[in-house]
Amino acid sequence: MQQLNSEAIILHHLDYKEADRIITCFSLEQGLLKGFAHNARKSRKRFGTALEPFSQVRLYWTDKVSSEMVSLQEAELIDLRSGLRKDVGALALAAYGCELVEGLLGEKQVHADVFHLLQAFLDHLARKGLSLEARLLFELRLLALVGYAPHFLHCAACNTALDGDQAAFSARAGGCLCLDCAPPTVPLKVSVMTFGTLGRSLQSPLTLFEGFRFSERTLDEGGKVLADALLQHLSRPPKSMSFMEQMLVGKARVAAIR
Ligand SMILES: [Zn+2]
Repeated sequence: MQQLNSEAIILHHLDYKEADRIITCFSLEQGLLKGFAHNARKSRKRFGTALEPFSQVRLYWTDKVSSEMVSLQEAELIDLRSGLRKDVGALALAAYGCELVEGLLGEKQVHADVFHLLQAFLDHLARKGLSLEARLLFELRLLALVGYAPHFLHCAACNTALDGDQAAFSARAGGCLCLDCAPPTVPLKVSVMTFGTLGRSLQSPLTLFEGFRFSERTLDEGGKVLADALLQHLSRPPKSMSFMEQMLVGKARVAAIR
């Protein structure tokens, strides 16, 4: 039986029967994979702690055990990202990021840039904890990498450059809209400066999360714009979203008090 291997990030797992574990991972060389790890919770030698969510690992597997699962033989831990496990807010945002990757990429869709983006995002959260900027940058870059980034500089309907103070946004209507083109039913009105910041942020290096500071307005409006754009392409809202948002609201309050 052919053995394959790839570096991978564990997205989540499910314990099965007495000692087995089913994992979902995003691998560098094969994209999204589901793996069955027989006896994983007893065999410390073959798997150790490597199948914990958000770990960076090298996985070894043989062909499929079913139409949708591979049979894991071994896992080498590269980085457990233990910093994440001390911070429930960072953990919530990590789970959300992993869910977005799973929701936006099809099975076996190989995407090295998305892999490196997710890797850098999780590394950043493990080192620095929860951050509103990191969330915005991750969502923005992920949308761009999978080909869904809205254009932020021009009206999607008439193609004129956005000017003035405000414009509208509707993912369903194609993205940014000047106020002349936006139907009155579009509820999301956004400062043109926010669109400018989002557009400029897309020019920054894919794996750079440190050193960004966005205004409260950019964080608020940018968050709504990206949520609208993401929901347009996901089959359902991420399960981890509301918990992660509670954590972010708490973080914003603490920042405001300081
Ligand atoms: Zn227009």
